[in-house]
Amino acid sequence: MLQPVAVGHKTLADYASIVGRTLVEEIRELADPLRGTRVLHLSATAFGGGVSEILYTMVPLMKDVGLDVEWQVIYGREEFFNATKVMHNALQGNPQDLTEDQWESWRRYNEMNARELSRGWDVAIVHDPQPAAMHTLVPEKARHWIWRCHIDLSTPNAATMERLLPYIQTYPASVFHMEQYVPAGMEGQIHIVPPAIDPLAPKNMAFSPEDATYICQQFGIDVDRPLLCQVSRFDPWKDPLGVIDAYRIVKEEVPDVQLALVGSMATDDPEGWDFFNATVAHADGDPDIHILNNFNNVGAIEVNAFQSHADVLIQKSTREGFGLTVSEAIWKARPFIGGRVGGIPLQVEDGVTGYLVESVEECAARATAILQDPGLGRRLGLSGKEHIRKHFLMPRLLRDWLKMINELED
Ligand code: UDP
Repeated sequence: MLQPVAVGHKTLADYASIVGRTLVEEIRELADPLRGTRVLHLSATAFGGGVSEILYTMVPLMKDVGLDVEWQVIYGREEFFNATKVMHNALQGNPQDLTEDQWESWRRYNEMNARELSRGWDVAIVHDPQPAAMHTLVPEKARHWIWRCHIDLSTPNAATMERLLPYIQTYPASVFHMEQYVPAGMEGQIHIVPPAIDPLAPKNMAFSPEDATYICQQFGIDVDRPLLCQVSRFDPWKDPLGVIDAYRIVKEEVPDVQLALVGSMATDDPEGWDFFNATVAHADGDPDIHILNNFNNVGAIEVNAFQSHADVLIQKSTREGFGLTVSEAIWKARPFIGGRVGGIPLQVEDGVTGYLVESVEECAARATAILQDPGLGRRLGLSGKEHIRKHFLMPRLLRDWLKMINELED
C-alpha cells in the first residue's frame, strides 16, 4: 500500500567545496545527537513537482549524516488525486471547493493509509495536504509529528481551509516557506524555512558552455542568436502567455531574439494539456518560439542546458509558492527576471541579483536592457548565484531540518 521510495546515495562531504566547511561542520554537530533517529517522510508522489525534487536529495543526505530515514508515498487512486488537485488549487485561492464526495474520498484514502502506516517512528514528516489527516487519525504511530507545507496558503478558499484546518492545526510542529503562508489557528511550533535546490543534481550541476550549447542546438535553437527562456509547468499562474507577449515586445528592439518555453507534462493532467495547447496557439506558429516538454525528451539535463545557455531566464509567475525554478535558474549565473509574487522576491534582490516585475511591459523592458548590455547580464548573474549559494542550497535546508528535529519537545 504505502510505497517506500528508493533513493540513491549522496555524501554531504561532496557539498563542502560549494557551501563551505563551516556549514558542513555545523550540520555534523547538529546530526550527532540524532544518530539512529527514525524519520519518516510521507508524501503523495515520487514523481514531478517540488516535493519529490527535494526529497530525492534530502533523504539521502539525512541518511549520510546518521539518521535512519525512509520516504514513503501514500496510496491513492484517480478519485483521490482528482480531489487533492481541487484541494491544492482551492488552497492557493481558486474559488472551486471540493464536493462532498471529494472530501469523503480524501478522508477515506487518508484512513486507509493511516491503517497501513507502520509504527515506531521518532519523527513523521508529512508533506502537503494530501496525507495531512495522518496525525489526527493515528497519532500513536510516531513520537513526533511535523506538517511540511509547500504551498501558498496566504489567500485560500475560505470554505476549503475551514474543512482542512482541524487536520493541520493540531500538528505539534509545522513548517512553511514564508510567514504569510501560515494559516490562522495553528496550535504547535511554527517554523519558517524556505526550500532549496541540489547543486549537484543533474539539473543543476556545472555544465561547460559547449555542452549546454550542443544540447540546445539539438532542439532547434540557433545558438548564435539571443535566447529568452522560462522553465515551468504549463499553468495559468506561471503566465507563459505573458512571457510570449513580453518576447514580442522585445523582438521589436532585438529582432533576432528567440524564446524557449520548457515545461513538463503529466499524462493524467488534462488541464495541463489544455493550457499547453492554448500556449501553442498563442505562439501562432512563430518559428522563433520553441515550446518543449518532456514528451520531446526534455528532462533534467536539458533543463540544465537551456538554463545554462539562455541570455535571460524568466519566471513571470502571477502566483508562486516558492518557485524552485527560480533558484535553479539563478544558480546557472544567468540574468533572471521574475514576477514579484510569492517566494520569488526571497530569491531575487531587485536590481542587484536580477529583476522583479509586475507586468508584461516591465518584463520586456528589463529583458531588452539585459540583451543590449551583456555586462549588466553578467553582473546580475554572478551576484545572483552568490545569493543562491548562501541561502537556497540543500545543505542549508538539511541544517534547518536537523535544528527543528533537535528542538522537538516531548
Ligand atoms: N520542472 C522540470 N521540468 C520541467 C518543468 C519543471 O523538471 O519541464 C521542475 C523544475 O525544475 C522544478 C519543479 O519541476 O524543480 C517545479 O517546482 P516549482 O517550485 O518551480 O513549481 P511548481 O511546479 O511546484 O509550482
